Amino acid sequence: MLPFKLVYSDDYYLPIGSHVFPAEKYKRIHDRLLVSGIAEPSDFVTPRPASDEDVLLVHTPQYVEKLKTGTLSAREQMELEVPFSPALVKAFWLAAGGSILAADHALNDGVGISIGGGFHHAFPDHGEGFCMIHDVAIAIRRMQRDGKIRTAMTVDCDVHQGNGTAAIFAGTRTANEPLPSVPPSTPTPAKTKMRGGDTGDVFTISLHQENNYPAWKPPSSIDIDLPDEIGDDEYLAWLDNALSSGLRQFDPELLCYIAGADPYREDQLGGLSLSIDGLKKRDELLFRVAKVRGIPVMVTLAGGYARNVEDTVTIHCNTVIAATEVFTN
Ligand SMILES: [Zn+2]
Repeated sequence: MLPFKLVYSDDYYLPIGSHVFPAEKYKRIHDRLLVSGIAEPSDFVTPRPASDEDVLLVHTPQYVEKLKTGTLSAREQMELEVPFSPALVKAFWLAAGGSILAADHALNDGVGISIGGGFHHAFPDHGEGFCMIHDVAIAIRRMQRDGKIRTAMTVDCDVHQGNGTAAIFAGTRTANEPLPSVPPSTPTPAKTKMRGGDTGDVFTISLHQENNYPAWKPPSSIDIDLPDEIGDDEYLAWLDNALSSGLRQFDPELLCYIAGADPYREDQLGGLSLSIDGLKKRDELLFRVAKVRGIPVMVTLAGGYARNVEDTVTIHCNTVIAATEVFTN
């Protein structure tokens, strides 16, 4: 039995037809975890959909109304980059409910992993980049509303910048903090932007490829704009640096890890060069830091578009294995 719960439903499947987003990956991860003996059926808990009230903690009433009544404009549907349907709305509401449940389990057990979610490109008033609503932001706001936490930190390791997260939690922050020191092992400097100061109640960290979607990157509390093609060692040095800098400035009661599989070198929508092993080391690093500091971690899996979908499944399963290894000992 795992020392934490996995949140999953077969209804995480996104009904988007043939698409670069492998909607079947969630079930494949679930099945692989069971078949390989990493998890057993009792490790899984089933989420309920988020309520409209939960979704409205982050999203505007106008946008929620459009989603519920199927009245997005043609342009809004195009920006979403997945075909709109009422069934898709249901799947996203369930993903948000899954992240709420994972956050709840994280606060009780130290770790909670949703085998889905991580829709970090959704903004309060619109969706884009395959993301309709922002499940992680909804989970944070729900935990805050219920009085379970006051502060949270998002650590986004998807290859694409967490633009929705940055916009949602922008608050009143100002840019002018000193840059963190460049890790000595890093020959290729990444551009680091920090915006500490008045950080509000949610501190956002994003490590991503600079030359990639989204073109407009609203500022996170810490943005690490990575150059193309960097590999495991440089990436891990930057992650270590970002976590140290962030945790020097901010003391979160919940850490929300957005574990994208798309920094992988075989990814069709990514331009970094991490190996499968390097991505597991990334997960281990994050979990170790959280464990040492006693910060509960809620995990969502986010993007992954490897040429071979089995690689994406392996990378996501490795996140569960890394958590097991770190939190069992
Ligand atoms: Zn991505």
